[in-house]
Amino acid sequence: MLQGFGSRTVIAIGLVVIAAIAVFLLEWNLQAAIIALVGGVAAALTATGTGDQPIETPRPVEVAAPAPVPNLQEVIEAIVGPVLIVSEGRVAHANTAALGLLGKHIVGEDVRIAIRHPGAAERLASPIAGMPQGPTNLVGLGALDQHWEMHVSSTASGQRVVHLIDRTGNHAAERMRVDFVANASHELRTPLASILGYIETLGDDKAGEDAQVRGRFLKIMFDEARRMQRLVEDLISLSRIEAEKYRLPDRAVDLSELVGEVRSELLDAQNVRSNDIVTDLDLGVPTVAGDRAQLSQVLHNLIGNAMKYGRVGTPVTVKLWRDRVGMVRISVADEGEGIAPEHIPRLTERFYRVDPGRSRAAGGTGLGLAIVKHIVERHRGRFDVASTVGKGTTVTLMLPPHDKATPPLSSRAISPDNVIKR
Ligand code: ADP
Repeated sequence: MLQGFGSRTVIAIGLVVIAAIAVFLLEWNLQAAIIALVGGVAAALTATGTGDQPIETPRPVEVAAPAPVPNLQEVIEAIVGPVLIVSEGRVAHANTAALGLLGKHIVGEDVRIAIRHPGAAERLASPIAGMPQGPTNLVGLGALDQHWEMHVSSTASGQRVVHLIDRTGNHAAERMRVDFVANASHELRTPLASILGYIETLGDDKAGEDAQVRGRFLKIMFDEARRMQRLVEDLISLSRIEAEKYRLPDRAVDLSELVGEVRSELLDAQNVRSNDIVTDLDLGVPTVAGDRAQLSQVLHNLIGNAMKYGRVGTPVTVKLWRDRVGMVRISVADEGEGIAPEHIPRLTERFYRVDPGRSRAAGGTGLGLAIVKHIVERHRGRFDVASTVGKGTTVTLMLPPHDKATPPLSSRAISPDNVIKR
């Protein structure tokens, strides 16, 4: 019956019962004994405060087994990038990345020989107390164009920890950004300088009053202004395409229809070469998952190049078909001067031109193929240039068909473009 009580409570109740019997035996009256008994039990229960809770026997404390301490080699292997521990000027430990960069023989070597770089030698020669703060930049370690950031810190026992962080990618991106701004400014400055020069000349009474001279100058100024306009439009296009590069286009685009549309736009523009465009379209190819406006821009740029760099009077052939692996292919071929093989890998660089004079004279901005490359990448497609000097050039795009590159059917069902035309 007393099972639910703690042992101290049981003892207290026992003592109170004994006291009550003593009160009764010593001839105090029965009422006093009952009052003493009830009050005593209540007091005992209140005093212990654990009257209805058993006292728990304390359990032995479980001590977790200590985690194994990794050794120094394991620690430095876990760090990304080359790490060396230098003790008294010699390499005491090196991780695999450091051995890969500096050679397998470096452990035990003087650190200034192990990292053969004057910047590193100078930094590591300074005493620990006066060691400069912050990283040291090392260029050309490993490969000529490699950029490293060397961080050196010291341990309490006087060893040095050398950590190399590869910054080659950051430098390449920074270089590209600087080059791009410089090139874009240069491209804009040339026509602007020309326009300002002609304005000044026209301000001169003699030249300005001659209607023929004025007309000629105005025509040049108009052409230069148009050139600046095209350049600004291409720059805006590039930045828009880059901003959207991770958004997969998902509309079904019928390329045969789009080729027809681009062709009639070029015919309307009355370019001398518009009539040379020949099409060879397989109308059975499936639609591609695309951004219609961007794919139209790709066709304009490729057909535009074929017209600019192909020989007048020769065909510019646009072909559309589906290849054996199911990709939709579209090619634009011209019969022109062609492109020497060494230029081909660089054609998609911004402002890269094989013949800058010819490109500018034809109204080129040097950004057309860079735009094509970015758009094709956004469409998860591929792009190939094949050219034979003296014969001509064929540019081929490979794009995945709509059914292979689109989101689930539910979201396609609401798209008005979701009709595969055959
Ligand atoms: P551009 O505005 O100068 O035409 P692109 O980026 O479109 O710029 O092309 C880059 C360069 O590639 C051109 O300047 C030209 O030298 C070369 N190129 C492009 N397409 C052709 C082609 N079909 N035939 C010969 N050269 C071409």
